[in-house]
Amino acid sequence: MLLKGKPVADKIKEEIIKAVEERKNAGGAPPKLAVLRVGERADDVAYETRILKNCAELGIEAEVTAVDFDISMIDFMVVLNSLNEDTKTHGILIFRPLPRQLDMEAISRAIKPEKDIDCMSPVNAEKIFTGDQSGIPPCTPEAVIELLKYYQYELNGKNVAVVNRSMVLGKPLSMLLLAENATVTICHSKTKDLPRVTSAAEIVVTGVGKGKFFGKNYFTEHSIVIDVGINTEDGILCGDVDFKGVSESVAAITPVPGGVGTVTSMILLAHVIRAMKLQQGETQWKRNL
Ligand code: NAP
Repeated sequence: MLLKGKPVADKIKEEIIKAVEERKNAGGAPPKLAVLRVGERADDVAYETRILKNCAELGIEAEVTAVDFDISMIDFMVVLNSLNEDTKTHGILIFRPLPRQLDMEAISRAIKPEKDIDCMSPVNAEKIFTGDQSGIPPCTPEAVIELLKYYQYELNGKNVAVVNRSMVLGKPLSMLLLAENATVTICHSKTKDLPRVTSAAEIVVTGVGKGKFFGKNYFTEHSIVIDVGINTEDGILCGDVDFKGVSESVAAITPVPGGVGTVTSMILLAHVIRAMKLQQGETQWKRNL
């Protein structure tokens, strides 16, 4: 079975549109996203264009603040603080990586947690680890959970191997899986006999960032494979899993592109709504997926 991201993203999109509509009917100003971009990196500009297009489609207001690549830390903080204090701005997205003169840790601590749609703030990270559902989780781990739920995979009691231990993916995802009562094995570059560990799991999440790294020997015919990797091989986008060699011999697999990444992009915008609701005092707001 091919676990495409689009139907999952479409479902989330409908929920965003509904929330925007409800807000409008209640006479409130539209949800607003502030994008803070440093410099003119082609990747950032392309990403920004996609976000602005999606926001326009969904009825989310979006405003870009572009600052010079050599902006000082003091000047950057002035801009960030003004977005933090702007009552019309619900979500703030800061493109990363940031240039060296900007202190990433201080910026992560400075962004208001209730406006932090991309989980930079240690406050939001801590909430994931303590099981407090009043924060905003990182987009990709949430996308993995939403995708599994959409395709009705029961997580309760399942053995899940997560091959990644970064703060962007593996660690928070493992906490979200634990909260769903999965039994989680976190793997990394020092894990011994990885094919044995992943073959023993019912669900395998891959995020090593190495194109076509996982061949048939890492899975069984019962494996549900969630490929989070985004890599370029000979100019072509591919996942961590050798899709051609593996897809026929596992129970289910996500494609790359068109899998987890598609869901992640929509989750980011759902977080603007989540941020808006948090600022209205609705701390337990959850989508209905
Ligand atoms: P990262 O910080 O480089 O983490 C890579 C992880 O893979 C580390 O935990 C590393 O182990 C592990 N690893 C590397 N080689 C391995 C090996 N041979 N065997 C087992 N584990 C190995 O990368 P990241 O930021 O988490 O991103 C991971 C991937 O996800 C990238 O391809 C990125 O493009 C993709 N990504 C996708 C989305 C999406 O929405 N689909 C979003 C974000 C990221 P150690 O800790 O031991 O080094």
